[in-house]
Amino acid sequence: MPGFEIFGDEERKQVNDVLETGVLFRYGFDGARKGHWKAKTFETELARRVGVKHAHLCASGTAALSTAMAACGVGAGDEVIVPPFTFVATIESVLMAGAIPVFADIDETLCLSPEGLEAALTPATRAVVPVHMCGAMARIDEIKKICDQKGLTLLEDACQSLGATYKGKALGSFGRAGCFSFDPVKTITCGEGGAMVTDDRDVYVAADAYADHGHDHIGNDRGAEDHLIIGANYRISELNAAVGVAQLRKLDWILDVQRRNKAAIKSAMAAIPGIAFRQLPDPDGDSATFLSFFMPDLETARQAVKALAAAGVDGCFHWYDNKWHYIRKWDHFHTMKAASRLPVQTLAQCPDFSAISVPRSDAIMQRAISMQIKLGWTPEQVDQRIQAMVKALKTFL
Ligand SMILES: *Cc1c(COP(=O)(O)O)cnc(C)c1O
Repeated sequence: MPGFEIFGDEERKQVNDVLETGVLFRYGFDGARKGHWKAKTFETELARRVGVKHAHLCASGTAALSTAMAACGVGAGDEVIVPPFTFVATIESVLMAGAIPVFADIDETLCLSPEGLEAALTPATRAVVPVHMCGAMARIDEIKKICDQKGLTLLEDACQSLGATYKGKALGSFGRAGCFSFDPVKTITCGEGGAMVTDDRDVYVAADAYADHGHDHIGNDRGAEDHLIIGANYRISELNAAVGVAQLRKLDWILDVQRRNKAAIKSAMAAIPGIAFRQLPDPDGDSATFLSFFMPDLETARQAVKALAAAGVDGCFHWYDNKWHYIRKWDHFHTMKAASRLPVQTLAQCPDFSAISVPRSDAIMQRAISMQIKLGWTPEQVDQRIQAMVKALKTFL
């Protein structure tokens, strides 16, 4: 997740374009902005890159998820199937929509499994939000098939997987809508930002309005625009969008470097008995932001992250013990802290989240470790890392 590693003249030039005009707002001021439309440019180039008709930028990935829920009409009383391994934002966006998150097991792709999804279906299921974790894909074709058969809205959380594809098609482009994040630790970053993409014109029009108080963005007199929908302010600023324009143009290079670094490390690790790798339904489409692997059990996984850190191999995450990415340690959610912000109806319908049981996911997450792949490593550093990793892991395998 290395966008922050590569800020350079390209980002500075884009930001200066904005500062020189003084127009930091993404809408209007047509004359003063001297032809610079950074948010619009980012949207156009992102839509082309992802292979969809429309992209709408938002202030964050979380805002994009909320916008997607609103634009797809997911709301009060709806059940939304989600995986227990994700960043908490996915769950927040479901709750903030007034809907109820229903947890379904992951599989060894580290993403929502089609079997888990089927087991979680009820008559109230309205939407499914698979999360393409750590740069790679869920079994998205099977998930999409189930959604199509059952008439469910498929909404992909691809916040961590910009640039990844499944059989040549971009993650985020399979569902009715897909969401990306450009926060500081994502594949590309613009400080804070996100986007919702879709092929559905109605979803796009609703998203474009929802994220800006309902404005229809027709004509160039904001005061005279119609309100299409009760909305919010999830707008991105031109300054953030400007950074994103420069970063997106570096995406192919980012993917190349990540894939090369990851391949070198993975092939060295494959020689260590006792280590297995995350399943990738289409290895060629992996964006390679992480190398995820499985230790034999919880104990060896705990030992491994400690040994790796002690050996100077940084950026390794044992998600089972991590407070933000796995349901087990979401204490604020188990106890529904600040729940007074949620609609009464949602609260009444929410199950006791502290009692949720996802044994299959537990068994997988206990063993899973992900190592962040960086862009800035020299070939020597990659070699050193490989040697340190192999040595550290072999001591107890
Ligand atoms: C980062 C992330 C988000 C939220 O994105 P922000 O831009 O930080 O709001 C949502 N889902 C997943 C899986 C993420 O990793």
